Amino acid sequence: MTGPAFLQAATSALQEIETYYSTLPDRPVLPSISPGYLKELLPSTAPQQGEQWTEISRDIERTILPGMTHWQSPKFMAFFSASSTYPGILGEMWSAALTAPAFNWICSPAVTELETIVMDWLAQILALPETFMSRGEGGGVIQGSASEAVVTVMVAARERYVSRQLEREGVQGEEEREDRACEIRSRLVALASAEAHSSTKKGAIIAGTRFRSIPVHRSNVYALTASEVRPALETLTAKGLCPYYLGVTLGTTNTCAIDDFTSLADIAEEYPDIWIHCDAAYAGAALVLPEYQYLSAQMSMVDSFDVNMHKWLLTNFDASCLFVQKRKDLTDALSISPAYLKNQFSDSGLVTDYRDWQIPLGRRFRALKIWFVLRTWGVQGLRRHIQHHINLGNFFAHLVGARKDLFDILVEPRFALTVFTVKPPGHEPTQHLANGTTIDHGDPRPFEEQHLPIKPETSSQELELANEITKEVYTAIDAKREFFLTASV
Ligand code: PLP
Repeated sequence: MTGPAFLQAATSALQEIETYYSTLPDRPVLPSISPGYLKELLPSTAPQQGEQWTEISRDIERTILPGMTHWQSPKFMAFFSASSTYPGILGEMWSAALTAPAFNWICSPAVTELETIVMDWLAQILALPETFMSRGEGGGVIQGSASEAVVTVMVAARERYVSRQLEREGVQGEEEREDRACEIRSRLVALASAEAHSSTKKGAIIAGTRFRSIPVHRSNVYALTASEVRPALETLTAKGLCPYYLGVTLGTTNTCAIDDFTSLADIAEEYPDIWIHCDAAYAGAALVLPEYQYLSAQMSMVDSFDVNMHKWLLTNFDASCLFVQKRKDLTDALSISPAYLKNQFSDSGLVTDYRDWQIPLGRRFRALKIWFVLRTWGVQGLRRHIQHHINLGNFFAHLVGARKDLFDILVEPRFALTVFTVKPPGHEPTQHLANGTTIDHGDPRPFEEQHLPIKPETSSQELELANEITKEVYTAIDAKREFFLTASV
C-alpha cells in the first residue's frame, strides 16, 4: 500500500468508523450468529497473493460486524463499561503510526517522558498521595490490564519479601542465597477477599505461590476488614507459611464493595513485609470527584494502586494505570540488563526505563491516548462524565427499586453499579432471565411493555431518559444479560 493509497483507505475507514458509531444505537447489541460462523465466511487458508484494500475492507461489514457484541452501544449494559472515545481512537492511530516500542528511555524519549507526565497528572487528578508521583520515590506506569498489573506487583512483592528475609538471615554466597530463596518462595501465600477479582488468584498461580481467599460478609456489604484478615494471617504464620501479598479492592466486580482501608491500615503497619495492592480497576475512576477523594488519602497504606482508564475514564483499551510508592521495589525485582539493553543514559540513572516496571520488554505508546483524553475533557470534564454516570446509576436504582414486585435490590448503588435479582427470591428466577427463558409475574403484557412507574416531579427530559432506561432494563434482561448490570448508558 502506498502513501496515497493509505490516505484514501484511511479516509474511507474513518468515514465508515464514524458511520458505525452514529448508527450504533440502531444495531442489536448482541450478534445473532452461531459458534463457528466465521469459518463459513472465510477461506481456510491465507491468500497466496495480496488483495486490494477495497476487497479487504468490504469484509468488515460482511464478516466481522455480524459477529460483534457492540460494547460501545448505548444499550450495552453487561459487565463494566469499556471506554472508547474519538480522542482515544486518535491516540491509538498515532501510536500505531509511530510504533516505537520504547522499553528503554533511549528507544524514544518522548514515549517514556510523556508516560511519566500523564501518570503524574492522573495521580494528581485522583488525589493520590504524593508518594505515588515521580518526583518522590514512586511513580506510575501504564500496563495492559489490571490483571497484568496484579502479576507485576505480585512478582515484585515476592522478590521484596525474599530479599528482606535473606538480608535478615544474613545468607551469603550466590548459590546459598538462591537455594534459600527457593525455600522461602515455597512458603509464600498471597491473600485477598473472596470478592476480589479472579486476577489475584491467577496472579498467585503465575507467581508460583499459594493463594488464600478470605471470606467476607453481606452484613459488611462484602468489604474486607482487618477482623477477617488478622486471623487468616495468624493461622498461616502458625503453620509456618509466609503471607507476602494482600490484595484489597476499591470497587469489587460483583458488588463494587469497598474494602475497609481504615482498619486494613493497621494490618499494613503490623505486617510491613506484606505488599498491599489496591485493585481499583473500575471504581478508581470515581476518585476524580472530590467527594470520593477521602478514599485516595487512604491509599497511603498500600504499596500499589491500579485503575483502568479503559473502563470508565474515556480511554480506549488498553490503559491500566499502575502506581507504586517505591519504584525501586519494581526495578529491583524486574530489572535485568544484558549488554544489548545497556546504554549511557540507563547507566547514568537519570532516566526511566519502563521495561524494568513491567513484565514484557517492548511496550506500546499508550500515553498518547491518555494525554489526548485528559486534554480533551480536562479535570472538570472528567468529573462531569463520572458524575453523570453516577446520577444515571442512582436513577436506574430508583426505577428498579420502584418495581418491588419484580426486583430485589441486593446491594444499593455503588458508583454507577446497582446489584439486583429477579423475584421470587432465589437464584433460579434470575438465572431464568439470564438464560432468556420466560418467567411468569402474572402481568399479561410482554415484559418490555411493563413500564415502570415514574415519580410525579419527573421532568420531560428525565422522563425520556427514564423510558429509555426502563426499556434498557428490560432489553438487557431480555437479551440474556448478566444480572449485575452497569448503568453506564
Ligand atoms: N479488577 C476488577 C475489580 C475488575 O472488575 C476487573 C474486570 O472487570 C479486573 C480487575 C480485570 O481487569 P482487566 O481486564 O484489565 O485485567
